[in-house]
Amino acid sequence: MEDQKNKSGSRREFVKTAGRLFLAAPVIALPVILSKKRDAKGFVWQIDPYKCTSCELCRTACVMTPSAVKCTNAFPMCGYCDFCPGFLRQGAKTYNTAAENQLCPTGAIVRKFVEEPYFEYTIEESLCDGCSKCVKACGDFGNGSLYLQIMHNLCVDCNYCAIARACPSDAVIRVPAGEPYMRKELKS
Ligand code: SF4
Ligand code: SF4
Ligand code: SF4
Repeated sequence: MEDQKNKSGSRREFVKTAGRLFLAAPVIALPVILSKKRDAKGFVWQIDPYKCTSCELCRTACVMTPSAVKCTNAFPMCGYCDFCPGFLRQGAKTYNTAAENQLCPTGAIVRKFVEEPYFEYTIEESLCDGCSKCVKACGDFGNGSLYLQIMHNLCVDCNYCAIARACPSDAVIRVPAGEPYMRKELKS
């Protein structure tokens, strides 16, 4: 009888302990899940502008159409040139903004007069498809103020960025999510 009492007592204890563990499981697991999620989101993909060789693959390799990669201008570096090699096609007869004079295939670069002889060049991101033609021209004939960045309002942060796989220069790297851009202007 005493033996039976002991057995049912330990069964009750076992059930109580198991119940407590069952209830506590989500509390124990949640921080682990959250910390894994934080780890996964701790880094994002970005282009190192000093490694990029403007090979034009960013336009087509991204899983997004148009590409999540856009051109940007480092204004402290820009010469505000009248003849901007990123804006005007080589061999353009005149320096005006006629479509046939522009290098950008989508007309994404906006030229604004500042004062003689300076012009400001900004990128209309909705038109830019990251082809890097202007970046190459600015790097070859200008001072390299035009450069590519992955825009994080457009990028879906693929586990393995398709551009990183395709990039011949290993220019697409993981950077801390708290500092998701590699701004050339911050180094100039
Ligand atoms: S694939 Fe690499 S080298 Fe080519 S444009 Fe993109 S970042 Fe630059
Ligand atoms: S030339 Fe290409 S990279 Fe440059 S602004 Fe136009 S679409 Fe963007
Ligand atoms: S992570 Fe994905 S969406 Fe973002 S730039 Fe790379 S391929 Fe495009």
